[in-house]
Amino acid sequence: MKSQQKYPQKFSLEFFPPRTEPGMEKLKTVINELGTLNPEYMSVTYGAGGTTQERTLETVRYIQEQTDQEAAPHLTCIGACQESVTELLDTYEALGIKRIVALRGDLPSGMMDPGEFKYASDLVKFIKDQRGDKFHLEVAAYPETHPQARNCDIGIKWFKHKVDQGADSAITQYFFNFDSYRYFIDNCERNGIDIPIIPGIMPITNYENLIRFSEGCGAEVPRWLKCRLESFEDDNESLLAFGKDVVQELSQKLLDAGAPGVHFYSMNSVEPTLEIVKNLTFKSN
Ligand code: FAD
Repeated sequence: MKSQQKYPQKFSLEFFPPRTEPGMEKLKTVINELGTLNPEYMSVTYGAGGTTQERTLETVRYIQEQTDQEAAPHLTCIGACQESVTELLDTYEALGIKRIVALRGDLPSGMMDPGEFKYASDLVKFIKDQRGDKFHLEVAAYPETHPQARNCDIGIKWFKHKVDQGADSAITQYFFNFDSYRYFIDNCERNGIDIPIIPGIMPITNYENLIRFSEGCGAEVPRWLKCRLESFEDDNESLLAFGKDVVQELSQKLLDAGAPGVHFYSMNSVEPTLEIVKNLTFKSN
């Protein structure tokens, strides 16, 4: 964990663009409430379709222009070409955006080809070649190994390649096993990867959603956690209280071990992120 301990500890928040106008209005309230925590930045995910991409821009614009917060748009390879990425980068530069989360994205069913950029590393290289250090580039990392990587060594190999192409720091897929992060960092160190790797933290608010989501992205919900969450059945209040404790403890343990911060997948809700972050102790470097 040594490589990570030299970085100052920060925290950031992630939102997804709502599909509807009322959803957008609700998100604005959430952004303002969570903004009181003073995060390093607020990132906004990017979907594969036209409307959701417009909503990403709308949300980014709102954060950047109507609040005191820094927005960090996600950008994916799916359906992108050099021209469309250049256009988007021009828009982001004009908005004063300083950070982009560069990803491959997942192909929607029925779509066979991601487009001109096949992997996140292609996007990272393109942005670096075109804009130099204009944007701080975040990429994704997978302590429990990306589901499409044949094994963890291959996963690390391609992660290193992405870093060599110019990634400045990384945010991990969420996980509930502290050791998966610790061993992943050790493996990164052995492979000469020396950028901040910030743990992604998923608050627990709903059993079914968590299981479905985790199956889709390859994040493991440990058996003990599954069993406990299942046992709450319709008692949502107890599930929320227990979930908050679990996530609070994991986040603090990561910070105490020297993780360079935490990135919360807020799921567009104020709680439990607000309460968890308020109770975290960050090391002042
Ligand atoms: P890559 O780094 O390109 O890796 C994808 C796979 O290809 C891996 O298995 C890797 O080992 C392999 N690989 C990489 N390079 C090569 C190569 N040159 N040759 C052969 N194999 C290679 N998805 C969205 O659609 N929108 C979002 O906004 C979004 N935000 C995310 C934010 C975070 C923090 C994380 C962790 C994930 C996010 N995702 C998002 C999901 C992400 O797009 C998926 O996990 C996707 O499957 C992989 O994206 P990546 O950028 O990690 O891909």
